[in-house]
Amino acid sequence: MTSLFEEEITLFADLILPVPIPNLFTYRVPREMASLIKVGARVIVQFGQKRVITAVVAQLHSNPPVKYQAKYILELLDEQPIVTQQQLELFAWVAEYYLCNIGEVMNVALPAGLKITSQSRIQLNPEFEHEDLLTDQEQLVVEEIKKHQTLSYEEVERLLQKSNITSIIKSLVGKRAVILYEEVKERYKPKVAKKIRLTAAYTTNEALSKLAADLDKTPKQQEILLKYLSFIPVYNNPELNYKGLDKSIFSQDDTISDASLNTLIKKGIFEQFEVFVSRFDDIPAGNMGTITLTDTQQEAFRQIHELFAEKEVVLLHGITGSGKTEVYIELIKQALESGSQVLFLLPEIALTTQIVVRLRKVFGDVMGIYHSKFSDNERVEVWKGILDGKFQFVVGVRSAIFLPFDNLGLVIVDEEHETSYKQHDPAPRYNARDVAVIMSYMHKGKTLLGSATPSLESYFHAQSGRYGFVQMKQRYGNAALPRFELIDTKKEKRQKQMKNEFSSVLLSHLEYNLKNKEQTILFQNRRGYSPYLQCEECNWISECANCDVSLTYHMKARELRCHYCGHKEEVPRTCPHCGSPKVKTMGYGTEKIEEEINVMYPEARVQRMDLDTTRAKNAYQQIISDFEEGGIDILVGTQMVSKGLDFDNVSVVGIFDADRIIHFPEFRASERAFQMLTQVSGRAGRRADKPGKVLIQTANPSQPLLEKIINNDYEGMYEAEIAEREKFSYPPFTRLIKVTVKHIDEGTALRAAKVLAEKLTSHLGASRVLGPQPPLVERVRNQFLFDILIKLEREKINFKAAKSFIQEKVIDTLTDKTLKSIQVVIDVDCL
Ligand code: ADP
Ligand code: ZN
Ligand code: ZN
Repeated sequence: MTSLFEEEITLFADLILPVPIPNLFTYRVPREMASLIKVGARVIVQFGQKRVITAVVAQLHSNPPVKYQAKYILELLDEQPIVTQQQLELFAWVAEYYLCNIGEVMNVALPAGLKITSQSRIQLNPEFEHEDLLTDQEQLVVEEIKKHQTLSYEEVERLLQKSNITSIIKSLVGKRAVILYEEVKERYKPKVAKKIRLTAAYTTNEALSKLAADLDKTPKQQEILLKYLSFIPVYNNPELNYKGLDKSIFSQDDTISDASLNTLIKKGIFEQFEVFVSRFDDIPAGNMGTITLTDTQQEAFRQIHELFAEKEVVLLHGITGSGKTEVYIELIKQALESGSQVLFLLPEIALTTQIVVRLRKVFGDVMGIYHSKFSDNERVEVWKGILDGKFQFVVGVRSAIFLPFDNLGLVIVDEEHETSYKQHDPAPRYNARDVAVIMSYMHKGKTLLGSATPSLESYFHAQSGRYGFVQMKQRYGNAALPRFELIDTKKEKRQKQMKNEFSSVLLSHLEYNLKNKEQTILFQNRRGYSPYLQCEECNWISECANCDVSLTYHMKARELRCHYCGHKEEVPRTCPHCGSPKVKTMGYGTEKIEEEINVMYPEARVQRMDLDTTRAKNAYQQIISDFEEGGIDILVGTQMVSKGLDFDNVSVVGIFDADRIIHFPEFRASERAFQMLTQVSGRAGRRADKPGKVLIQTANPSQPLLEKIINNDYEGMYEAEIAEREKFSYPPFTRLIKVTVKHIDEGTALRAAKVLAEKLTSHLGASRVLGPQPPLVERVRNQFLFDILIKLEREKINFKAAKSFIQEKVIDTLTDKTLKSIQVVIDVDCL
């Protein structure tokens, strides 16, 4: 028996707050909450003076904090944890590895719908007495509050018919007439559908016949009944009535009035009810006949399975069109059958709808989709679906690694070489592929990395034996790989055969395809009409006011746009410097290519696919399905056209400006160019009977990299590249950390960067610290940038220790009084 006098232990909770502070914060658990609170649950606490924020419980214990008085937790939001133990470990790992705060990790992890927002409300100050001090409007507000107890800002706005009421509220607070407080609101709202069904009395055939006859006198109501029965044949099976029919079906029908329906409801013939609906119903689910694996696929599956017995990670190198998806599907099935969860990562889901549709057809409702274009509500639905076991399998983009798994058996990272797995801003600047490996390890699961053009890092690990390695070297159905043709644009220019940026070879292929109703993809990795405007007289160039970069001309929008900061300007009619009307567009992007085709071949159906044409939620899918259904002859696009699309009728892929991609001033340029050009080429001719053709326009057809691309010689590219990387100590031999110093004053930024570089060099040595040097674009959003690049050898250096040293030196620099206002960004494993 517990004694009444036994001292009660006070419970404390260490919380992860969604703010950039390094430590967990300890709060006191109110007595009545003590038996309910759990690690992983959300709570509401006050932080700072006025803010009320959502936090997650990381630990429960009985040790009061030493340095401060712990405040009470205000509210407990969850009876069951919404963050799993494994997630808490992962968040801590990410924070430590990528040098950021755990709160920043949680902030990115939790969908906004799970964070609580607070809304300011206004109530009367009970001590208020001087009504005589109030203005007429203030008086009005006070009267209204007396009527309703409290008011929201919007209600005051409506009352006063004003959109800016802050000054009135301030004045009321100043006169001690009202008090502001925060009302906490949960943002997630389940989606509900309004439905109707017959009341139970009318579900027998007898009752129905009588009802139909009775309604002879009111034909409108009779029509509703008949329409209902045409969707839901209750007379065949009364059970069907229970699920009812969407009310919207009637409201969309112009011949049916709401009034008649409402009368039927009032009479008790129909009843209205609401159901929660899933937001994922628009992608068809169901079982599509399983596909039999080919021998090659079967063999790959077997090898992967076998390698998983000894390796944590396996790299699957399968050429484009080899049918990796089907191998993934078998592995997923196997993992699901064993009862564990599966995560399938894709670079940008919008970019790979075909694969999602395929997976959904196989796995149906156990599959959740986590997508960057989904709303918060949809994200919360996936989150909760994983927690309550509805989704055992999730397909998602990079942030899906933060979902609440507790028993992951398998993570598949498709197109593992993709740079969009890396988050640049804000922190955590994580690479989802690398985190996936760690995460699987924590769950004692396995990771499969798949690509037709693996990253050098992953291939290196596969070569060294750290990862298992499996290859698929044949296309499904023995479809041939595309044939390549290099087109010498220098030569064509000399012979005056080029039409603007189109070579005669490319044009003759375009014409052939238009005549024969075959499809063409044109690839130019630059959006907009032209990358800049230039004055022929004085050489003025359109430049962004905030960044050191030219403004891109967008013809359709009639605008100049900065692709770095989003700044927009009208297109000048004449040169802003000398007034000359001779302002020309220079260079070309997707928009210009589209326009020139329209001019040359007015009958051709051209569609552009780039960031500018795919902003709307379903725009991308729309273009893809138009193209699939043959409604488009020529698809012009950026990188977007290169990703995982699988079209039957594309016989030609044309590539502009390969040289700019190959010679990009960056040490990964060759690797990237190989990946990008191989992936785009892979869209051509996926049919066994008709090999496609890839035309590459280049000023220098004899470059070694092009030879490797056209021979599909990944190994050759790898050998050449890895030797370079070793020679110059670049990844995978080293790990790179980029420290960027930012300031609006160039001198201050440079001085700070120099101070920091010196501190780093003194300890790490000059060979490991490069810079400071300005990046390619030296000024962005009015801030000057300087990069310091730190290379740390993989084997020799204690990475953890080196990172905390770097962090310390950054803090050192920031505490210098004259350098306080600089901003420093640390990017671990920068790309
Ligand atoms: P990858 O992702 O390796 O480039 P996909 O998985 O997209 O290749 O497969 C290429 C095409 O081959 C797809 O249209 C796919 O449906 C088809 N395919 C692959 N394997 C099979 C199979 N075993 N049976 C029937 N069709 C298959
Ligand atoms: Zn000029
Ligand atoms: Zn800009």
